[in-house]
Amino acid sequence: MAEYANVIVGISLEKLDRIFQYKIPDRLKQEISVGMQVDIPFGNRNIKGYVVELTDLAEYEIAKLKEISGIVKESIPITSQMIALAAWMKKNYGGTMNQALKTVLPVSQKKKAKEQKTLRLLITGTEAKNLLEEYRRKHNTARERLLRALLVSGVLSWEDAVKKLSVSGSVIKALQEAGILVIESACVYRNPVSHLVREEYGVSLNEEQLGAVESVMKDYRRGCCGTYLLKGVTGSGKTEVYMELIARVTKERRQAIVLIPEIALTYQTVMRFYRRFGDRVSIMNSRLSQGERYDQFERAKNGEIDIMIGPRSALFTPFAHLGLIIIDEEHEMSYKSEKVPRYHARETAIARAEMAGAIVVLGSATPSVESSYRARNGEYRLIELTKRVNLRPLATCEVVDLRQELRQGNRSILSRRLYGLMEERLKKKQQIILFLNRRGIAGFVSCRACGHVIKCPHCDVSLGQHGGGRMVCHYCGYEEREPVVCPSCGSPYISGFKAGTEKVEALVKRAFPTARVLRMDMDTTRGKDSYERILSSFANQEADILVGTQMIVKGHDFANVTLVGVLAADLSLHIGDYHASERTFQLLTQAAGRAGRGDLPGDAVIQTYDPDHYCIRAACRQDYESFYRREIEYRKIMYYPPVWNLLVILCASKEESAAGYGAECLAGLIGGDGRGGREFAGKKIYLIGPAAAAVAKVNDIYKKVIYIKAENYQTLVALKDMCERFVRDNRDYRNVSVQFDFNPVSGF
Ligand code: ADP
Ligand code: ZN
Ligand code: ZN
Repeated sequence: MAEYANVIVGISLEKLDRIFQYKIPDRLKQEISVGMQVDIPFGNRNIKGYVVELTDLAEYEIAKLKEISGIVKESIPITSQMIALAAWMKKNYGGTMNQALKTVLPVSQKKKAKEQKTLRLLITGTEAKNLLEEYRRKHNTARERLLRALLVSGVLSWEDAVKKLSVSGSVIKALQEAGILVIESACVYRNPVSHLVREEYGVSLNEEQLGAVESVMKDYRRGCCGTYLLKGVTGSGKTEVYMELIARVTKERRQAIVLIPEIALTYQTVMRFYRRFGDRVSIMNSRLSQGERYDQFERAKNGEIDIMIGPRSALFTPFAHLGLIIIDEEHEMSYKSEKVPRYHARETAIARAEMAGAIVVLGSATPSVESSYRARNGEYRLIELTKRVNLRPLATCEVVDLRQELRQGNRSILSRRLYGLMEERLKKKQQIILFLNRRGIAGFVSCRACGHVIKCPHCDVSLGQHGGGRMVCHYCGYEEREPVVCPSCGSPYISGFKAGTEKVEALVKRAFPTARVLRMDMDTTRGKDSYERILSSFANQEADILVGTQMIVKGHDFANVTLVGVLAADLSLHIGDYHASERTFQLLTQAAGRAGRGDLPGDAVIQTYDPDHYCIRAACRQDYESFYRREIEYRKIMYYPPVWNLLVILCASKEESAAGYGAECLAGLIGGDGRGGREFAGKKIYLIGPAAAAVAKVNDIYKKVIYIKAENYQTLVALKDMCERFVRDNRDYRNVSVQFDFNPVSGF
């Protein structure tokens, strides 16, 4: 039982206030827990605060600490729960309690934004015209006015409808209930498309889908709050399963959160949920301001909505009776926060669900190695959807060996096979996607004759090019000079491997001068809506070829695309990170899935210098199992997650020497500097580094990293706690920021 409680006061204030420490009187020691609201003496009055941490460590002079007066019985449980979640995040991911609270609780703003409601037409023009006729006949003049205005503009503000058209709120509601329009609040996702065909909700689940729903619901009814991994290829009906689960859970007056990567939060996806659940749904996205986010959360707290859909941060929607959390595309990297606390939405969702007695469903066609591992260990339960609903076959997929091309004199980025297929598709007026799976910043060094890639002898990841002819390992700092000839075959074709979409675009235009080429990458999607504009222009067949980075392979359906070319699968295979094969497998599987989604059969061509790599072969066959088996072996041998756990300690400073010294001191504190194993708290750990981060200097901030591997996560948490204390009490860290990242999803 803890002696002291750290208490935060005034969480509804604009800025989260300081944390104060209090003694816990003996009579409360049994009862008190993190998240509880308590009465505390403060100055010369009594105020309320929330317990954020229980500890035996007195931070101030013990004699000066005051005692907690009592526990507030009528406090709001959901706020307590969210604070307890913040405390869990602080403990498991590091950072301050304040940072954790700011992540979990949206901060209110002084003046509350007025809610702007918008009406949007849901039916087609023809349907609307027929309806207008009917209204005219029945002398429903208010309805006629409203519909006529909507038919012209598609959308209309609530205010205009009421004031300018003199239409009453009840008329608007009636049209909403009839499914003629939707009422959207300003914070709601908006899309330039204003008309859409409304369909009756008429999907009845097939046997497999129903089985999935039933097995989750059976546990749910028994009060089990487990985690499920729903594995099924795109088009196998996962979203329908989610919606059925949501329908059942909300029927019992509990609420649901659906996490979807922002990039997949498209109009189509969102409308599917609106169509089924109407205005009980709210959508969140990163474009919302703090104030708008606050309003959304208030609506959730007040019971105005039951379903929240959004990216990572939607996880913190303060539903009082949360019953279900769904994480779609659970393998996506965007579920990991890049800000302190660097939490993973998957783990945090599970922690929240445990507090709320809710269920978590993780969905993916290519589950993360981590989730598959946990499903195999029995931590999660695996549910599979094995059939595609529409029974459309997957694209045929072939691998082209670029070494062979070079040997036969073809030095272009397009293999003869890909070129030939492109020529043919262009003739047939079918569309093509060329995909450059470029990720990461530093290039790697490889041989174009034999495919050999220079790797770190200690970490089994590719060495990154660092200028001046040096190659460096981003994990351990190992360094060697770039070779002049290939150490494997002696060929002189050894060099840095870099290619950009812009260059590819130019080369493709030269190869096919009459084809219309669109490019989509970071540069062309910077502007507002440019992302959607490029996609819709391609969907409208205003271009023949779309060249782009991984952002084009995510979940977009183009019925006329019958050929997908992956230009160099190796690009993501050598990102100098232990996730390289996993990412490559996911990207290639998704890319291949883009071809032949309409009625036309499709082909995928994967070009590579490493045609025998297991992740390329498995992706080509869409064979998740064999990929997983090989990958988990590699993780086991190298003690990488999910078999072991990995903690990254990042030291950043404006002064290179301070960052370096800070990292050295921490490494020394943990024990030693070598590569071998050592002990920490009786547990074996491996310490690697310190090394310069992959991008060693950003905006004049120098970064050093230390990697620590341990079998148990909690060993690393204890280690982090030790480092945090050390840093706090040590003046050398005044100009060094020390951050922690547990099981990072990408390299540093
Ligand atoms: P996923 O989320 O796995 O990609 P979806 O749930 O989006 O799959 O389903 C793919 C398509 O099949 C959607 O258009 C969906 O409406 C349809 N669909 C799914 N399940 C059924 C079903 N049981 N009956 C009819 N259509 C279905
Ligand atoms: Zn070679
Ligand atoms: Zn190394």
